[in-house]
Amino acid sequence: MRIVVKIGTSTLAHATGKINLRRVEELCRTMSDLKNAGHEIILVSSGAIGMGAGKLGLRSRPSDMPSKQAAAAVGQCELMYVYDKLFGEYGHTVAQILLTGEDIEDDTRRTNFRNTLFRLLEFGALPVVNENDTVATKEIVIGDNDTLSAVVAVNAEADLLILLSDVDGLYTGDPRTHEDAEFLSEVKALTPEILSLGEGEGSALGTGGMRTKLHAAETATSAGIDMVIANGSRPSVLYDIVEGRPCGTKFSGRRKEI
Ligand code: GLU
Repeated sequence: MRIVVKIGTSTLAHATGKINLRRVEELCRTMSDLKNAGHEIILVSSGAIGMGAGKLGLRSRPSDMPSKQAAAAVGQCELMYVYDKLFGEYGHTVAQILLTGEDIEDDTRRTNFRNTLFRLLEFGALPVVNENDTVATKEIVIGDNDTLSAVVAVNAEADLLILLSDVDGLYTGDPRTHEDAEFLSEVKALTPEILSLGEGEGSALGTGGMRTKLHAAETATSAGIDMVIANGSRPSVLYDIVEGRPCGTKFSGRRKEI
């Protein structure tokens, strides 16, 4: 299976903003093992701005554009250093791909991106994708990595998109404030009722909430790709999803009629 795994900042970092080493190590080990089992993995990783802010000793995540871009320039290095080291321990080679909205919208650039991605997979490398935050200004930004991961899944012709988050999946309401909120383990169609569940708040660390995840589900499932939202605080959840054990919320890809 070709699998795109999206990891958000809230999964990668402690509440202090510093990297959650135990979790990142477990995630890299699990993804390495899935690769050893014959799956192709493409990782879409956030964390550049957060890790850069931490490394520069900034007190909080920056909000103005030049500071964000400077933090991303520092953090992206750090992120790749960590992935290179950890995946390298299990014999896997990582490759960095940084994209902006323009790279996806322009046909020539999109073709170049796809050619590189496919060749990296043929070479057995593990592409690690992020938005090119150091140059992505308002006009050309993809904006959030839920959307980016769905775009990557479509362009990679993936079989499965997994969004690892700090929530278990989709509920009919906010489980922190609504005791009667029901957990939805499977979503077969993105009805207006389902889409309206995305109106809550995002987590404190990341940029995306449920809205961007449902938007990603629309992009992925309409291209026939299954998508699962699951809690990344337990990295072995990746085995459960890939091996077909129910967990998280699964959105079924719309199969093309033959
Ligand atoms: N590209 C951003 C970063 O690496 C994250 C965007 C997101 O998490 O949605 O910090």
